[in-house]
Amino acid sequence: MTRALTDLLTLSDSGRWHQAACRGDTNHQAWFPYPSEDFAYARAICADCPLLAGCTEYAATTGQSGVWGGREYDRGRVIRE
Ligand code: SF4
Repeated sequence: MTRALTDLLTLSDSGRWHQAACRGDTNHQAWFPYPSEDFAYARAICADCPLLAGCTEYAATTGQSGVWGGREYDRGRVIRE
């Protein structure tokens, strides 16, 4: 089952996720690209997000995969920037 990124964001207790630039984005696949795909779409949205720094920390410390804070993670490890 595919979950929306906004579903995952609610797992955080930061209380600021409502400010996320990706909130409500319907292009879910763009946040979980295949290795052969670029993630320019998601990276551009992250670039203007006020939560960018906290987002990368959240992804790293909670073992997330996909694009977070303009970087791509695999189980909390940065695999592409
Ligand atoms: S930095 Fe990117 S992934 Fe993180 S909340 Fe903002 S838009 Fe979403």
